[in-house]
Amino acid sequence: MTDLMCGYIMDAAEFRRRGREMVDYVADYLENIEQRPVYPDVEPGYLRSLIPTEAPMEPENYDDIIRDVERVIMPGVTHWHSPYFYAYYPAASSYPAMLADMLCGAIGCIGFSWAASPACTELETVMLDWFGKMLQLPECFIAGTHGHGGGVIQGTASEATLMSLLAARCKAVRWVQASNPKKSEAEIFSKLVAYTSEQAHSSVERAALIGGVMMRKVPTDNCFAVRGDILKEMVEKDKAAGLIPFYFCATLGTTPSCGFDSITELGPICNGENMWMHIDAAYAGSAFICPEFRPLLNGVEFADSFNLNPHKWLLVNFDCSTMWVKNRADIIGAFKMEPLYLKHENQESGLVTDYRHWQIPLGRRFRSLKMWFVFRMYGLKGLQAHIRKQVALAKEFESLVRADKRFEICAEVILGLVCFRLKGSNELNQKLLKMITKSREIHLVPCQLSGRFVLRFAICARATESRHIQQAWQHITQLTFELLQEPNH
Ligand SMILES: *Cc1c(COP(=O)(O)O)cnc(C)c1O
Repeated sequence: MTDLMCGYIMDAAEFRRRGREMVDYVADYLENIEQRPVYPDVEPGYLRSLIPTEAPMEPENYDDIIRDVERVIMPGVTHWHSPYFYAYYPAASSYPAMLADMLCGAIGCIGFSWAASPACTELETVMLDWFGKMLQLPECFIAGTHGHGGGVIQGTASEATLMSLLAARCKAVRWVQASNPKKSEAEIFSKLVAYTSEQAHSSVERAALIGGVMMRKVPTDNCFAVRGDILKEMVEKDKAAGLIPFYFCATLGTTPSCGFDSITELGPICNGENMWMHIDAAYAGSAFICPEFRPLLNGVEFADSFNLNPHKWLLVNFDCSTMWVKNRADIIGAFKMEPLYLKHENQESGLVTDYRHWQIPLGRRFRSLKMWFVFRMYGLKGLQAHIRKQVALAKEFESLVRADKRFEICAEVILGLVCFRLKGSNELNQKLLKMITKSREIHLVPCQLSGRFVLRFAICARATESRHIQQAWQHITQLTFELLQEPNH
């Protein structure tokens, strides 16, 4: 029994021992993850019956807690890092990032201002510059020492989109009021229109809901891309009706099919109409560090803000969503609040960044440590190799699908996502997915493309190799065989 009066629970000596044990547990977990079913077999509410209804009054034993990880937690875990996980888009993971996250927890600072922990702010600014250069972003997005642009780490792409929309809204109000000083903010809000692809992520529509502005869904072409002429047409129509187009969110690498909006066409339209262009490249953006994929980002020079998730495809564990703005005053100026307890004497110098102005919450973690560790351990070459390997695995899966005449590919395979289906009805494909999900050998999710039910096969885990792809395809064709044997399938 521990001595409660002096608060002894775990001292440094025990932390050292338990820490080593935990590292072993984590390494064992990841090394042997293939042996666990990728998708849990539990019913909603499974967990409540496995643990007490109240928190313990007396301190418990660490060994009991660890035992309960396997008893209570693991049965309900979807193993995102299993090589049999092909759902959604990847969640990045690497050992250097996990170690950096440990250090982040140890420093445990809340980096809302420069003074709250200077290293936390300064490393972030420099990492976003490093990364911006790896992506060959135009100079205007790089903070450097004199730039007007710069980058920030948001928690998620959803927050980056929301921030850009709110900054654009603020800018639009100021712009309208410059010529109509009597117009109220509420009156202007009711006329503002934002646009995004019908294929955009749901978080984009949600940003407009939160921001209290209208949002129009722009139809896409047969490659699931938004083209310039159609946006132009919608903008003209809205202007003629007395509305104020102010924001367009482009997607590079849409969630359903990894489609790419034509930003070289859309950018000049947005610039000409005084509309903020934000680019959401949450998944695909990481690939732009490879010269062969960088042309997909051409047109970024027209954007006001650009975002991608290293926590999806660049080996940095969640959460880490990098966002750059061309003019940081646009974003800082939109939400500035300066209570006395957050003021510090250096902030007037103009050299310091107070990241709290760039985001919704006040508090923020030391997330740039993860980027620093990963960038240095892998180097640009190692990161490029990771992207290329996963794209090659997707191409391998694509050729397996193409070689089977019962199946069709539903969207061009550009990066690590393959959209495919059985030739035939939506019901048939729904049945196939149900069989796949039920068997729990691999895990994937569907999408809807032009009214058709489509299966998405995304290369996700860092540990995925060719043999897993071959095995997954064999499994899918075996289930297909069984499905097509059924009478009146
Ligand atoms: C995954 C994804 C998002 C959401 O990312 P979060 O970081 O979870 O908010 C947004 N947009 C696209 C295109 C995505 O693929």
